[in-house]
Amino acid sequence: MKSFHIITFGCQMNEHDSERMTGLLRDQGCALVPGVADADMVILNTCSIREKAEQKFYSELGRLKQLKAERPGMKIAVAGCIAQQEGKNILARAPYVDLIFGPSDVARLPVMVETAFSRRSPVIDTSGDPEYHRKRIPTARVDKVKAWVSIMYGCDNFCTYCVVPYLRGRERSRPSEDIVNEVRELARKGYKEVSLLGQNVNSYGKGLREDTDFSALLRMVNEVPALERIRFVTSHPRDLSDSLIDAVRDLPKVCESLHLPVQSGSDDILRAMNRRYTRMDYLDKVKRLRDAVPEITLTTDIIVGFPGENAQDFEATMQLLEEVRFDGIFAFKYSKRPGTAALKLPGHLPEDIKEERLTKVLALQKKITIQKNKAYTGMYTEVLIDGMSKRGGKLSGRTRGNKVVNFAGPDSLIGSLVFVRITAAGVNSLSGEICE
Ligand code: SAM
Ligand code: SF4
Repeated sequence: MKSFHIITFGCQMNEHDSERMTGLLRDQGCALVPGVADADMVILNTCSIREKAEQKFYSELGRLKQLKAERPGMKIAVAGCIAQQEGKNILARAPYVDLIFGPSDVARLPVMVETAFSRRSPVIDTSGDPEYHRKRIPTARVDKVKAWVSIMYGCDNFCTYCVVPYLRGRERSRPSEDIVNEVRELARKGYKEVSLLGQNVNSYGKGLREDTDFSALLRMVNEVPALERIRFVTSHPRDLSDSLIDAVRDLPKVCESLHLPVQSGSDDILRAMNRRYTRMDYLDKVKRLRDAVPEITLTTDIIVGFPGENAQDFEATMQLLEEVRFDGIFAFKYSKRPGTAALKLPGHLPEDIKEERLTKVLALQKKITIQKNKAYTGMYTEVLIDGMSKRGGKLSGRTRGNKVVNFAGPDSLIGSLVFVRITAAGVNSLSGEICE
């Protein structure tokens, strides 16, 4: 029996792909081990969204090189977006790698692993499986309460800074029946929450033979017995329809929380990014969402220092943050990515300006997040307990608005929905006490 260990970089999509790799290999009788030291094979599931993620991967690969020198029988596999982007070029830098495969080649993993162990030369397969989105792949899930469910793969948007469409391919939606069956099975096993995953969930259904859009899919998933909560990421603002807003308002299991990446508050930059909405369009959608669902929590992604971003453009982003008052943001310095259109744009900015702008947006948002979190103090809120807090041995869970809440209680309650009174708030989490 072979043992394996997976190191995952990047987003939820990669985490979920790693759950699939684990499921596939376990079905073949392989054993997942908690560390690299005992593993016959180490799989690095990589991310290429920003240069920093790529650097992290290469330094991990360097560490594994040393381990392999001590244990020559050990195999190293590279999966995910860097594998897709670099293919056999990885071998020029790291000739000790044994297996390279892309995000849409995961279903063939058992065969590829067997080949990698039986021959000396490396196995490379980044050809992509055009039927991947129709496959049912065994999945070994890390969490026992919440589960990720992919509803689509790839992206057709070609935002000018982004590698995803090149590495994860064109948008392909999974048939709704497959998705609903997967959610039914999860609910039967006791899962309380599903997060529907896709790069652009609001355009779900494009290219399917059936006539199902994303809000119709939400309605179907909402009918699954014993399921308590539905979340979804990521929504592209351009495709956020009124019917989706109605679905969030009307469907009891759909949580009142939305991640709606705006990227910039400047129309010039949004145009250069090929986001295909304006600042006004975005603000209008936020207003419609809040009119329909006043308690909705909103988070966003921001890129600072995009090529050509001048002081006014940056100020427009700061003002947008003040105006919308998001519950939280993920902010990034623009990072040059191979093959993307933004690489060729004029006006690339020096690192110190990007750094300064990142510090400013994060400081502003921190102030807003604390103010927003403090407003929950004294409120009663439903929390799904999903584990223990990282510090302090308390129970930890999330509100429907996706705020983390920590409070005292027995671990037998993990997986339950409880009501909690919020007693204090910080920037990353709320504290509370269970209501008897
Ligand atoms: N599909 C989603 C969307 O449309 O927003 C998320 C895609 S990506 C995995 C997550 C975030 O990474 C993006 O929203 C963007 O803010 C950021 N990102 C993508 N490419 C980037 C780049 N080249 N430099 C900096 N940040 C980037
Ligand atoms: Fe990348 Fe844009 Fe697609 Fe999101 S919508 S994955 S940012 S190309």
